[in-house]
Amino acid sequence: MPVLRLGDDIDDYCIKCKRVTNHSILAIVDGEPVKVRCRSCYNEGPYRRCVVPPSKRELQKAALLKQMMEQAPAPPPPVVEARPARRASQKPASQKPARKPAAKTARKKKA
Ligand SMILES: [Zn+2]
Repeated sequence: MPVLRLGDDIDDYCIKCKRVTNHSILAIVDGEPVKVRCRSCYNEGPYRRCVVPPSKRELQKAALLKQMMEQAPAPPPPVVEARPARRASQKPASQKPARKPAAKTARKKKA
């Protein structure tokens, strides 16, 4: 990678132009550009590494989604099937536990 120098051209995302444009490097720290100026609109800003920041609409969407997740009850833990999943949809697993307590109480009454 070539050494960057002040005034060099570099591609970056411009928030004014809302697209990646040529920028001039204004400040460099540790060999990394930290401040750049758009060559199209002369807007100065931090070097964004061409990363497009989320739009207001996207931020709103994320906030709304987060709000909904907080209000909704926690989802049940994912079902982990130890056995191969054959006939998993046919047998509900709610038959066995009902029998055991009945047997126990019957025994207690005898004793
Ligand atoms: Zn610009």
